[in-house]
Amino acid sequence: MNVVCTNCGARTLARCDREISRTWHGRTYTTKIPFARCTTCDFAPIPVDAVLAFERAVATHVALFGPANGDTFRCLRRSMNLDVEEAARLVQVPLESVLRWEHGRGKVPIASWLLLAELVREQAAREGGPVPIVELTAPPSTRVLARTHADGVFGRSPRVGVA
Ligand SMILES: [Zn+2]
Repeated sequence: MNVVCTNCGARTLARCDREISRTWHGRTYTTKIPFARCTTCDFAPIPVDAVLAFERAVATHVALFGPANGDTFRCLRRSMNLDVEEAARLVQVPLESVLRWEHGRGKVPIASWLLLAELVREQAAREGGPVPIVELTAPPSTRVLARTHADGVFGRSPRVGVA
């Protein structure tokens, strides 16, 4: 983390936590992300790396536990940085099919969903050695605590909670 404010140059950064959450298929994932706020100019840039790490951890959990549907398909697609057109090409369907799935009109073929889920799991394994979700303390239907890749970036463990 920087020690100097990138906006005003003051050395008056205070560490804060900001809670962010994502909801996919009615399951809400939350984490607290540490960020630096300048007490001189109030500048508090979003820690993009930590947010992306959280998004990937969530997508990895979705890839492992599903359920396979249009909403979670969108979650997986976004975490792989694919637009609708690229995702359609990847799973070899017309663009309109992906749009239909993601808007809840039409069932996602399980093979298409699994292809994307596999890519997300592979990416997680490549990036962090172990899959980010390493610590499951309870069944996914109740409460899950998990580490994310942000560990290395911020020197402590943001937690992904599943409500
Ligand atoms: Zn400042």
